[in-house]
Amino acid sequence: MYDFEVDRVAEEILRRGVKRVLLQFPEGLRGRALSIVKRLSERVDAEFLVSGDPCYGACDLPLWQGRSLGVDLIVHYGHSPMMEETNPPVLYVEARAEMDVEEVVRRAVPLLGGAKVVGLASTVQHLSQLRRAERILSEEGKEVRVGGRSGRVTYPGQVLGCDYSSPLSVAGEVEVFLFIGGGSFHPLGLSLATEKDVVTADPYTGKVGRIGEKDRMRVAKRRWATISAARQAERFGIIMGLKAGQRRPTAVRALKGKLEEEGKEVLLLCMEEVNFENLANFTEIEAFIETACPRIAIDGIEGLRQPLLTGEEALVMLGELDWGEVWRATFGGIRWTWE
Ligand code: SF4
Repeated sequence: MYDFEVDRVAEEILRRGVKRVLLQFPEGLRGRALSIVKRLSERVDAEFLVSGDPCYGACDLPLWQGRSLGVDLIVHYGHSPMMEETNPPVLYVEARAEMDVEEVVRRAVPLLGGAKVVGLASTVQHLSQLRRAERILSEEGKEVRVGGRSGRVTYPGQVLGCDYSSPLSVAGEVEVFLFIGGGSFHPLGLSLATEKDVVTADPYTGKVGRIGEKDRMRVAKRRWATISAARQAERFGIIMGLKAGQRRPTAVRALKGKLEEEGKEVLLLCMEEVNFENLANFTEIEAFIETACPRIAIDGIEGLRQPLLTGEEALVMLGELDWGEVWRATFGGIRWTWE
């Protein structure tokens, strides 16, 4: 179902004279790890190690693990390039899905309603099918807009869970977006970022749906309640992500300064895995602010007693960012530093 580009990876390993390789797969691709290692081992004489730690995105490269294992190359599957010039070097294999989207796109067309101008967006897995989707929509009398490459994304029309700058760039011309891809994580982010309805076409399940104003309001109300609760806190924990592409030291320090100016106490927490188990025992802390990945706070951590804000929501709490700007600031693809 996916193109793992075994020949290209093998050629790169030979070309670079690599002897030890660390492979990294996101959850959804791990079921193929053994067969990929087998196919690579048939082509090249190298040692293949596979990272078993969680992998959430191209921001999450096992660089220090690779150094400590003495590998010459990391092969990261499932995402487009984000960080260049790393040590060890990283070869990105996007694992494009080899599936036709025609049927599910045709099924999604009625949900676009009377919209004349439709924006198209997808994750990297289905980007090669955007042209096909565009042709189908044109046949249905729609004008199509695809945003350019920008922010942290590599390709036109591509989205990441933290970066919708590509579709945002055309949102002003678009009545509704059509998102091609699996699950609700990305289309919900797209709808929040652009404040437009998003029709979903899931090529894995064949299901179609529509995310609208009610869904955005549900998230907005929950986030506003969290910001209001955090306003009551005197003792804050600011979380600095330790994953290679999630570090925001300047933003963390700026935020600490702003909170201290308001008379708040601040603890700086450095962590790779931001989850309930790792936060629960910081019992003195009355509110957390995480600067690693905005989706951790927005999607929430089940069971966490204290409010958990994104960095941008913390700026809203401090009166430095307008609530109306928060989604664009969160998802706009800006590597925020607040300097
Ligand atoms: S920061 Fe979060 S949303 Fe962005 S790429 Fe990393 S895991 Fe995905």
